[in-house]
Amino acid sequence: MWMETDDLPVLLRHRTAVSPSTVPASLSSRTVRDALTRALHLDLIGPGPGRGDEHAEECLPGWERPSMWYLTGFLVPTGTPAPQRGYAFQARLAVECENHFHPRHDLSARHSDKWDRQVADLHYADTPAYATGHGVSADWTVKDGVCTQVRTSWIGSAEVEATRPRPVERVELSMRRLGELADGPEARDALQPLVGEYRSWIDARAKESAGLEEQDRATAGRLLAKARNAADRMARGVAVLAGNPDALDAFRMANRAVQRALTRRIGVEDPEWRPFQLAFLLLNLPGMADPCDQDRETVDLLFFPTGGGKTEAYLGLAAFAMVYRRLRNPAVGGRAGAGVSVIMRYTLRLLTLDQLSRAASLVCALELERAASPDRYGEWPFEIGLWVGKAATPNRMGRKGDKGDTARRKTLQYKANPRSRPAPIPLESCPWCGTRFTEESFTLRPDADRPRDLRIACTDFECDFSGERMLPIVAVDEPLYRSALCAPGWKIA
Ligand SMILES: [Zn+2]
Repeated sequence: MWMETDDLPVLLRHRTAVSPSTVPASLSSRTVRDALTRALHLDLIGPGPGRGDEHAEECLPGWERPSMWYLTGFLVPTGTPAPQRGYAFQARLAVECENHFHPRHDLSARHSDKWDRQVADLHYADTPAYATGHGVSADWTVKDGVCTQVRTSWIGSAEVEATRPRPVERVELSMRRLGELADGPEARDALQPLVGEYRSWIDARAKESAGLEEQDRATAGRLLAKARNAADRMARGVAVLAGNPDALDAFRMANRAVQRALTRRIGVEDPEWRPFQLAFLLLNLPGMADPCDQDRETVDLLFFPTGGGKTEAYLGLAAFAMVYRRLRNPAVGGRAGAGVSVIMRYTLRLLTLDQLSRAASLVCALELERAASPDRYGEWPFEIGLWVGKAATPNRMGRKGDKGDTARRKTLQYKANPRSRPAPIPLESCPWCGTRFTEESFTLRPDADRPRDLRIACTDFECDFSGERMLPIVAVDEPLYRSALCAPGWKIA
């Protein structure tokens, strides 16, 4: 055993379990302790030569437990450390053994009645632990399947392996081709194999679960039932596309819009869905398309590692919802289907801006699609509103003579001094082409003295959203309420 310390003014303890097979059980605890101490490589060293025992000493009491021997090592600070030095989190205790340490399964959730813990118990059934931290994390080194060192670790770390979708046969994943589906039967041919593949995967997991212990098998059974329910919902989603022409049209347009936005953003000409994204879309189609559907009230939590593609999945669904609503409510030049369709809520401001930019480019793509066929999708533009506190966007337009942070005042201040004044909205560049906004990008309409609207346009003349075609972004509350065609009663915190 060896320890490291740098004058740490706190008591640390590391306890490690050693297999009872290491020593005969008939021996007294004192004899066992001595045997273990000899078996373990024991040393106390400091961060520099000759400094190790200056402020610490090592104690190794041992005691007997019914089925396992424990060796407890204490790192006890004995000196007074010099002030104004960073001490915390420097000490580390490690135990090395020439014989290997035995893996141990965390059985704490084995008989838990909490669903989360039961699922964790199943998920980590094949992941043993070699040490348990108390007030600190534990880490270990395993080489060739043998653990020879366990240690404390103040900040636990683990390498999370990237998730890569496996190839799925006969499923159409290309957004472009899904955006061109001719009719219901073609949609069924393109997407039904995804449901079949998922069902086969579920059946394979069901076979595996037969070998699990009773508790884990019961948990696996419940998870498999949920997965089968998801597969059924996906199958119903395919049926919606096959039998409901408006839903198919909205699905096609959502595919084209996400594809156009992605091509703009990452430069890939023919992006493909990852299977889980397409599955998420299909899963939600029945509830979205039919107000009386049994899953209308169901809320699905999409859980995936960062960078895995959650945003495109839910933006695709949002696009479907917006277009479908237009198609189902064509009255008053499409205004009957306008209004607020989707509310996105974020908790982190930085994330909000990133997501706003990505959602805005999707709405730009939708708006270009709509503008090409206003008879079908309505005269009213697709727009995205930013409805946040007045510290981020102005609440009122304001007029000449008004005091306070009105949109008029912020815009005029920015136009007069764009280098030192913030832009009136928190976006820095055109979400469609990436050109940075300048003072020319913002216009108070109809005039600067009594504006009713703040419009934003790109200054790159080649951009689709330059000149008279404004960006479909509404950032000030007053015009946002007019666009929403309803009066929201509260701000979402
Ligand atoms: Zn632009």
